[in-house]
Amino acid sequence: MDHLYLFGDNNGDNAKVEVDNKDVKNQDTRQKRIVTENKNISPQRLAILGAGESGVGAAYLAQQQGYDVFVSDFGAIADHYKQQLQDWNINFEENGHTEAEILSAAEVVKSPGIPDKAPIVKKLVENNIPVISEIEFAGRYTDAKMICITGSNGKTTTASLTYHILKNGGLNVGLAGNIGKSFAYQVATEKYNYYVLEISSFMLDSMYKFRADIAVLLNITPDHLDRYEYKLENYAASKFRITQNQGTDDCFIYCADDAETKKLLEGKLISAKQLPFSIEKKIETGAYLDDDNLIINVHQAHFQMSINELALQGKHNIYNSMASGIVAKVLELRNETMRESMGNFRNIEHRLESIGKISGISFINDSKATNVNSTWYALESMTNDVVLILGGVDKGNDYSMLKSLVKQKVKAIVCLGRDNKRIHDAFEDDVEVIVNTMSAAEAAQVAYHLATKGDTVLLSPACASFDLFKNYEDRGKQFKDAVKEL
Ligand code: ADP
Repeated sequence: MDHLYLFGDNNGDNAKVEVDNKDVKNQDTRQKRIVTENKNISPQRLAILGAGESGVGAAYLAQQQGYDVFVSDFGAIADHYKQQLQDWNINFEENGHTEAEILSAAEVVKSPGIPDKAPIVKKLVENNIPVISEIEFAGRYTDAKMICITGSNGKTTTASLTYHILKNGGLNVGLAGNIGKSFAYQVATEKYNYYVLEISSFMLDSMYKFRADIAVLLNITPDHLDRYEYKLENYAASKFRITQNQGTDDCFIYCADDAETKKLLEGKLISAKQLPFSIEKKIETGAYLDDDNLIINVHQAHFQMSINELALQGKHNIYNSMASGIVAKVLELRNETMRESMGNFRNIEHRLESIGKISGISFINDSKATNVNSTWYALESMTNDVVLILGGVDKGNDYSMLKSLVKQKVKAIVCLGRDNKRIHDAFEDDVEVIVNTMSAAEAAQVAYHLATKGDTVLLSPACASFDLFKNYEDRGKQFKDAVKEL
């Protein structure tokens, strides 16, 4: 192991700053562990904004790496995270930021939920203090191969499926990012050779040196535009950062049918090997559909599987399966393992999750559909008449893309939200019945009443849930409980 020792870096003190080349990914010279020889000298300070899963995980890793850690949350910290910070002897504050404590940091790790326009973030920028994401920070302390999955929709599904295939293929792999235990905590406590990371655009916005060995961009459709000055191009550019720092040995997997991705690719120099996937056309190197067969060709290796055997059904899931399958083929997994894993994967809760049938009416929980595009895919995959439960916090939705499917398949809309005016305005000419409800129980009862044998009641709200629920999981759970009570 090579060590580089720098002296006098810490305000002229004789602290020894150790740069461990093994830990250094992407030649980032800021990647240093501080070993204080003189106990009176405080090690380098790292402040962490936000004490959720990612912030608390980053705090743990930072503490392990010898930083002087300070965690600050503008709101209340959940009890179990507070307990963890206390158990680990990490300094923290809640319900406000003490500027002096934060502005004295050499670097700040920001949780993805905190927008750049937050006053404390603006202050940090004014003071030239680097603000990075937990992924950027933790990426410095692992040599594992990074498989990074982003997109407007399908991230969790594709990350989970990819992880499932790689794990079944015998790889020593972890799953992190926007899912499960934080990446930082896993880097601190596990020794994985591979990570599948679900990466949101908010995370990408604070990633600079991080490099994905395999980058997957599923699609780009309007979402979270409130954080991007309501400009799709800003949001799209953020998603494209998944390719930053990639070299010729790396891979970039993307959807060749996605209009925004195609637009972005025009004139862009991509060093990584490009492995597109498409349902609409034949792809030489990548994945495509030949009748009902999903075909993958990578590195002279060939994989084929009937889409009827895929565990995840629906057009959107063919895309997700293609992306995961390409990753598996790049990593040279055996076709047998891939076929088995892509066939036996169990979908995660709240994504087109079948709840069951009552009086011949099927109930589906797709509470995770928090934007119009995912609701489009849910509706697209419906084969019966639908009573659609829609609504919540509208993030600037354009419902026009749903109109033709709604006309074709939806017999009634049940609004589940505080303010449903935009839904009424959008669909009043397409659907005869539009009813307002204010709770999951009421929505389930009204939908049940409106549906007849052979119909499907689909909760796929196209909106965030915060007006009536804690989050989309809470919305989905309350809906499932309500259906069971019918
Ligand atoms: P994310 O993690 O990006 O929010 P999820 O995998 O949790 O995505 O799926 C969210 C919603 O989007 C689900 O309701 C699902 O039906 C829909 N969806 C999944 N994959 C895709 C895709 N490739 N394109 C469009 N919609 C999708």
